This record gives sequence, structure tokens and C-alpha cells, in this order.
Amino acid sequence: MKTIYLDNNATTAVAPEVRDAMLPYLTDLYGNPSSMHTFGGQVGRAVEDAREKMAALLGAQPEEILFTSCGSESDNTAIWSALQTQPEKRRIITTRVEHPAILNVCQYWERQGYHVTYLGVDGKGRLDLDEYAEALSEDTALVSVMMANNEVGNIYPVQRMAEMAREKGVLFHTDAVQAVGKVPFRLSETAIDMLSLSGHKLHAPKGIGVLYIRKGVRFRPFLRGGHQERGRRAGTENVPYIIGMGEAARLAAENMEAERRDVARLRDRLESGLLKAVPDCMVNGDVENRLPNTSNIAFKNVEGEAILLMLDRLGICASSGSACTSGSLEPSHVLRAMGVPFNYAHGSVRLSLSRYTTEEEVDFVIAHMPDVIKTLRALSPFKD
Ligand code: PLP
Repeated sequence: MKTIYLDNNATTAVAPEVRDAMLPYLTDLYGNPSSMHTFGGQVGRAVEDAREKMAALLGAQPEEILFTSCGSESDNTAIWSALQTQPEKRRIITTRVEHPAILNVCQYWERQGYHVTYLGVDGKGRLDLDEYAEALSEDTALVSVMMANNEVGNIYPVQRMAEMAREKGVLFHTDAVQAVGKVPFRLSETAIDMLSLSGHKLHAPKGIGVLYIRKGVRFRPFLRGGHQERGRRAGTENVPYIIGMGEAARLAAENMEAERRDVARLRDRLESGLLKAVPDCMVNGDVENRLPNTSNIAFKNVEGEAILLMLDRLGICASSGSACTSGSLEPSHVLRAMGVPFNYAHGSVRLSLSRYTTEEEVDFVIAHMPDVIKTLRALSPFKD
């Protein structure tokens, strides 16, 4: 059975170009980039070349790029550094729809005595900038707002929000794990101070991330030890993965415009096909302003997990908007924050595409979904 992979917000396939770029560094070129000898030195130059490619994708300077192990480490480090360098400031502002890599860290700092404001969202998952303006105070150590939401794909106005923070002298961090390569921006033209991203959402392997730190922003390392990464992150560099990340950044920069257009066209075909073929369903999120690859569809009166299991039998990979916690199916924190009605939130399925998704795959899903939903509705305990 062929796999139809529509779960690219969970992780992406490693691009063949990325794999090929990495292979020499897993075999012959195993030197330590910090070594004095030529053998290590050539590896060090390749790491710097990867840093330049990543900087070019982000519109940043190479020295503003710190390689980490994942998006979660980048998020943890950004918050840690902001709090450690400004001990007099005891407030954090974030949103109710962040990834756990931000939410759980904020909750940790809350338990350490920090005051955290969690900005709410409306029914489409949009933030209210007036509420944000009111919450912004000079004793805020950090604002952390995601550039794009992983579940519904909403894109948030982080450039405007970063300018508002700067006016108050407040540091601004964005978790751009889902946005990089899909949303064009140049960091040098924004007021964003720190940005997190993750390789495995960008066709690089799992286990490599980046934290951008604007030149001039004070920084305190999260991992201490050796002097790697200009003393900002200890630990011998994960060379093959850094090389892969550089190649993934080069590919993303080169193809972003065409990919955005092509992937959005397929996503729209999928979404409109499903809305037409299946009664009683709706799109979650802000359809005017969201990632080109993401569609989150709520099927009324069905359980999302059951939909996933039936799709899985057809070889279709997707994610649901609910998580099985302590035996009960709770809608996700994002759908709850949006106030999506219970009988829709439960049947919410996220379909996320990539540059490798084909029209045939999309049409296969459109052809099979009506039967899946019909079968499950007949069995469903939810009724109007
Ligand atoms: N932030 C967002 C928005 C994400 O979607 C994810 C992963 O799903 C992360 C952070 C965590 O990234 P990583 O898996 O690289 O730690």
C-alpha cells in the first residue's frame, strides 16, 4: 500500500539533496570543526557555509545564527536567556495557542514566580492587538508569539507585535518552527529579537534547530561547557545535521515562492473537494491568513482519532485536533482556546502538505473521505 503523507506539520521527509549533502560528513569528513588541523578546518568551513545559507534564508547575519538540537531547545534557550539577562523584569507575555515547547516552559517559569499573560484568540484563532497593547508593560522581560500555528496554520502579525514591544523596550521572540520556508520575511527588516526554527519541519533531519539572536541582544547560554558556537552553546557541533540544515535552507530560499503557490493550490483543491463531498464539516482557523500547506477540517459528530485510524488503513497519514489524555479525548488546547464547539472540535483533522504532495494523492483523499465519515457517523455516540 502506498503511503499518502499529509502530516508535514508533524515532520517532513528529508530532501534527497539534503541527504546527499550530509553523507560525506557521516563518512569521510568526520573531523572536529574546532580542530587546528586542515582535516578539521575544512569541516569548520562547511559549518560556516551552512550558517551563511541559513542566514540568507532568514535575511540575517551569519553571526546571528546559533545551531541547536531542535525547535524546543531554541524556544527554551530564548526564554531562559531573556529572563537571565534581565533579572529585574518578572513578566512574560505569550498566547494560549503556542506549542507546548513555549507553553510548558512558560508554566514552569510561572511556578518559579514569574507573571505570565496568555493572550486569548477569537473563534478563528486570531489575536487581539488591543489586548496585547494593554498587556505590554515595561517590566515585561519577553514577549513570545508564534509566527504560525502548527494546528490550524494561522499566521500571526509578529512583525507589528515586535515593533510594539520594541517601543516599550521589551524583547520579542517568535517560534517560527512552522513558518520558516513557508512565510517570506527578512529579519534584518523587522524588530524581532530572537526566532526559533527546527530542521525536521523543513526537509532536514530531526535533531537540528536554530536560534536566531539579533546582534546586540544580550545572551546567556542555556548549555554551558566548551566554547563552541562562539561560546553560546557548548557541545561539539552536530556537523552532518548542520550541513543538512544549510542545504535545506538553500532549497527553501530557492523554491519558496513556487512552492507556496503550488502547495496552496493543492491544499485548496483538497479542502474545497472535502467540503463539497462531505456534509456538515467546516474549516478551523483563519482561512484569510494561514500557512499555504495546512488545512484543519472539523467533521461534525465524529471522533478525530477514529477518522485517523480509518485513514491509516487507507495509507493516509494525518493528525487530529484531540489528544488522548487520561482515557478521555480532550480537544486540543488550540481548538479549546478558539471555542470550537465540542462536537466539531472532536472531529477535527489536520491535513498538512509539502512540496512532495501530488494531485493524485489529494484526489485519493477526496474520493475516500466521504465513506470514512459516513461509516463513523453511523457508529458515533455524538448526535445533535
Ligand atoms: N514549535 C512549534 C510551533 C512546533 O510545531 C514544534 C514541533 O511540532 C516545535 C516548536 C518543536 O520543535 P522540535 O520538534 O524540533 O523540538
